[in-house]
Amino acid sequence: MSNVYNWQLGREMEFPYEAAYPDRQFAFVFNLNRCIGCQSCTMACKSTWTFSKGQENMWWNNVETKPYGGYPHHWDVKTLDLLEQANPGGQVWNDTRRDLKGPYGEFKGKTIFEAARTNISPEGAQKALGYLPTDEEWAAPNRFEDNPTGAQKGQKGQYFTGGEALPQHKTWFFYLARICNHCSYPACLAACPRNAIYKRPEDGIVLIDQERCRGYRKCMEACPYKKSLYRGTTRTSEKCIACFPRIEGRDPQGGGLPMQTRCMAACIGHIRLQGLVQMNSDGTWKEDRYHPLYYLVHVAKVALPLYPQFGTEPNGYYIPPRWVPRPYLRQMFGPGTDAAVEAYSNPDRELLAVMQLFGKDARMCFRYEIKEGPKLFETTIRGKKFAMYNDTVIGYARDGTKIIETNVEEPVHVRSSQHANSI
Ligand code: SF4
Ligand code: SF4
Repeated sequence: MSNVYNWQLGREMEFPYEAAYPDRQFAFVFNLNRCIGCQSCTMACKSTWTFSKGQENMWWNNVETKPYGGYPHHWDVKTLDLLEQANPGGQVWNDTRRDLKGPYGEFKGKTIFEAARTNISPEGAQKALGYLPTDEEWAAPNRFEDNPTGAQKGQKGQYFTGGEALPQHKTWFFYLARICNHCSYPACLAACPRNAIYKRPEDGIVLIDQERCRGYRKCMEACPYKKSLYRGTTRTSEKCIACFPRIEGRDPQGGGLPMQTRCMAACIGHIRLQGLVQMNSDGTWKEDRYHPLYYLVHVAKVALPLYPQFGTEPNGYYIPPRWVPRPYLRQMFGPGTDAAVEAYSNPDRELLAVMQLFGKDARMCFRYEIKEGPKLFETTIRGKKFAMYNDTVIGYARDGTKIIETNVEEPVHVRSSQHANSI
């Protein structure tokens, strides 16, 4: 075991290999407030990569309805349970300690790597605490879709006459869109006895070498997000490849410029923004003030890692859904939750402008610039002042090409009363 620095946990942690970081890291932000559960992302991925024999139950991208849904079923609850059993009552954060490198505080509990030593099987200790889902758990990716939870139950045959209001709804659900997080400390890679999994030095994408893989499924057991999947026809494991030809700028549609993955580009709700962030030699993010992902994760701090306590340092970040009860969100996104929801619910001028970059162009944005516009209106949101300006936000590709220019105020199209079905 080596000691590596996990900035999401605000401390060093144990990992089976020496730390090694890419120059740039594949990363993304999903805004869960906007996801409509349409599964366009899921189908964009499936029709590109997993449409062949043996891949019928293979969903590299999935969208599950929380709190009950999950693919495989109950993946998160099961891993959280294992951690709780390994460290009863100890999976807590000290969120009073905040500095630039540990923005959410310090995790005092055990990660899946640290807890693994206590989970001894006949084969010895695991590299990462985990479990192998059953075939049944993989079989139905969308169970519990749209099933809400909450205190107020509806009466059969009657409309619910109450209402819901922010800041928290009593009856709620939300869609959680997920792909492989291309983690900085991948549990799949740590657990592979064949060294078949590697992390690319140029962009941090985690891949399985299909020639070396023998289908032992140790990656599937170890990945806490269950994003490594087994294919019976080839007897190998497969996983999201981050659409690497697009990331490399080899998709003809991009004209040589790096493009976002298929799931990002197909997103109807414009919830997704993906990019390549610069890394320091200690695995923290290099300051890049006008990179949209750096801004959202490190400056506005509205986007948070999913289950950071697992310890893999996932490179997927989420803007939490603002209507969901905070205790549920805190166990999922850590102690940065309350500040993130607050910042998103009452966005400042820059955040409102950067949010317009989502879904505007399939090419990857490396830098943004804001040109100030006139004030549109001001109001009060739950006791706090809010002003909206019609600023213009401009996004640039890797080579400086302008790829996005859009305003904060969205255009309104009024349909003609004579031709109601046309615009
Ligand atoms: S999400 Fe799972 S499969 Fe993807 S890199 Fe992390 S540990 Fe590996
Ligand atoms: S395409 Fe976008 S909005 Fe639709 S389910 Fe996927 S992430 Fe959600």
